Amino acid sequence: MRAVKAVQQHYTPSPEILLMLDQFRQMLNDCVRIGLAEDVTSLKSLSTKAYNQLATYDIMSYYKLCAISKATGILRNYRKTRKKNPETKEPYARRPQLTTCYGFKIRAIEKVLLLPFKPKQPLSIPLNAHVLSVLAGPNIEVCSVTLTDQQLSISYAKEVEAIQPHGLIAIDRNLDNLTVADSDGHITKHNLAKATEIKGMYREIRSHMRRNDLRIRQRITGKYGRKQHEKVKRILHHASKQIVLSAKHREFGIVMEKLTGIRKLYRKGNWQGRGYRGMMNSWSYYELQRQIEYKAHWEGILVTYVNPYGTSVKCSICGSRMKPEENRKLKCRSCGFMVDRDVNAARNILARGVRFAPFASACEPMVQEPQRRVILKVDADELTWRSAT
Ligand SMILES: [Zn+2]
Repeated sequence: MRAVKAVQQHYTPSPEILLMLDQFRQMLNDCVRIGLAEDVTSLKSLSTKAYNQLATYDIMSYYKLCAISKATGILRNYRKTRKKNPETKEPYARRPQLTTCYGFKIRAIEKVLLLPFKPKQPLSIPLNAHVLSVLAGPNIEVCSVTLTDQQLSISYAKEVEAIQPHGLIAIDRNLDNLTVADSDGHITKHNLAKATEIKGMYREIRSHMRRNDLRIRQRITGKYGRKQHEKVKRILHHASKQIVLSAKHREFGIVMEKLTGIRKLYRKGNWQGRGYRGMMNSWSYYELQRQIEYKAHWEGILVTYVNPYGTSVKCSICGSRMKPEENRKLKCRSCGFMVDRDVNAARNILARGVRFAPFASACEPMVQEPQRRVILKVDADELTWRSAT
């Protein structure tokens, strides 16, 4: 299977690059406009409709093709979101940007990226040591380059061989922590309380802004948003890296809940306080999933998703309904098992993952005796519950 990653660095754009970025942005908007007006979705039909109209731009044809292909992606996403929410605004690129998958070269010896500008006159951008060392890795194939006015990002790929998993790591994602239960019976918690705290702090700062000028307000909100984003991202990257490393080390697969419609749970009019809604809506459950998934793919680790129904309320020993107790504890109504609610959820996810995993029989000898009984018991209960409904 093919795994893709990207590496970023800051750079200072020259006037020529700034000009290209703005031309690319305009071409992108032209293509999106044409695509919407002519109602085309495929790359091929958008190319035939739009390519000639881009003739007025004095830019190399590589970029025209890339603008059309990027616009196709934007249009596809727009149509998808509009199905769910008919009030979605039509896409329009405001930030100068440029993506190319053709014509660029990376010269490791001169430590530069060469971007086509005029025939035989490329523009060069110095690359830093980190980017060069990443791209010099074994079997790396560089795919594309994306520039904004501050940052450049290079995406790269490699062929990876999928690891045949010998067990599973189940991850329960919560607002303040990630709880991990694995087939060896270990439980680990990754604390994310710091991320929630940072998000709360910035929400507080933004809520105190009283300047009644939209442009200034947007600029300041944007600035704090970026700062918050950077800080939170660092915490999430640390946690996802640890999890993927431990899966790689033991040759385990990863299983998570398929969470959908989370944002719908915390909308206005659902009888929740503003503060609570704000906190729940800033929960980075999807960003974590994205990070874990691409990092796992890169290592050839299998990632599967299970139905989240009931994972937080069912007993991970006998499958009965649990009763909430103090300090995020749960107590089982029938077997009296007392457990932390996150640990219970992670164990339920693990049990479901094992049930669906293709290697279930192969990993059983690795599961410790009591744990194995647990899994089988939950299994049986789930099955009777299923057949009863
Ligand atoms: Zn129980």
